[in-house]
Amino acid sequence: MPGFGWELTHLNDYHVHSHLCRHGEGKISEYVAAAVIQGMTEIGFAEHIPLPQIDDPDGRMHWSDFPLYYKEIEAAQKAFPEITIRIGLEADFFPEYVDYLSRFIADYPFDYIIGSIHFLGDWNFDHPKYVGRYHDYGIDSVYRDYYYLLRQAAGCGLFDIIGHFDLPKKYGYLPTIDLTDEIEMSLLEIHNNGLALDVNTSGLRKPSGEIYPSASILRRAKELDIPIVLGSDAHNPQEVGWHFQEVIALLREIGYTKIHSFEKRQRFCLDL
Ligand code: ZN
Ligand code: FE
Ligand code: FE
Ligand code: ZN
Repeated sequence: MPGFGWELTHLNDYHVHSHLCRHGEGKISEYVAAAVIQGMTEIGFAEHIPLPQIDDPDGRMHWSDFPLYYKEIEAAQKAFPEITIRIGLEADFFPEYVDYLSRFIADYPFDYIIGSIHFLGDWNFDHPKYVGRYHDYGIDSVYRDYYYLLRQAAGCGLFDIIGHFDLPKKYGYLPTIDLTDEIEMSLLEIHNNGLALDVNTSGLRKPSGEIYPSASILRRAKELDIPIVLGSDAHNPQEVGWHFQEVIALLREIGYTKIHSFEKRQRFCLDL
C-alpha cells in the first residue's frame, strides 16, 4: 500500500471535515482523492452538525449547505468507485440539545455519529479565539467539567464514537490534579455503553503535540477492550491520514489488532 511501510488490507480515516464547515478548505472530492493516493480503502466524513442558536458562523456546516454535503459525497462515490465513502457527523454534545440532536440524527441515513464536547456552557474552549478563558475558568475545572459532560455524552444513547477523548489538553494546559478517576469513570461509561473511541491524530498538529487520547489512556482503553476508529480530523486535504503510520505502530505496540468501520450505524471490525 503506497505511503505505508507494510501491507495493510484496510485503512480508513473516519474523522474528516471539508469546506462545508466554513473553517476547512477543499471539496469532498479532494479529500477522497487524497485518501485514494494513500491507498485507503475507506474514508468517512464527519462534518460539524448544524446547530440552532449557536453564534459561530464559521464553526460548523450551515443548514443551507446540508443538502450539498450529501450531493458532494454522492458525486465522489461515483467519481471514486475504488474507495468506500461514509457519511457521518461530528455532533456537539450539549445536555439541553439532546432532543434536537436525536431528531436530526434520526432524520438522515448517517453511517456513524461522533459525539464531541467542544463547549463548556457557551464557551467554545477548543477554539483558538477563546483560549484566554482557560485561566479564568481554572484549568482543573475545565478538565473536571469536561469529563463530567463526556460521561453524559457517552450515556445519552445518540453516538457511536466519542471524539478526541482528552481534548482539553489541546493548547498544552495541563491539570494540576490527578485525573485518574475522572478518566477511568469516563472510559467505563464509554465501555458500558458500547461506544468506540476516536483515535485522533490532530493533536499532533496542535500545541499539545499528542494524539487524542494519549498513549496511557489508550493502554487502559485496550485493557477494557474499547473499540477504536482512526481519524485525522483533517480540515484540508493534505491532512488526510495525518501521521497514521506512526500511530498504527503505537496501536500495535499497545496490543490493538483491530480498527473499526461503520455502515448505517452498524459497527464492523477490520484487521489492523
Ligand atoms: Zn472543525
Ligand atoms: Fe472536534
Ligand atoms: Fe472534527
Ligand atoms: Zn474534531
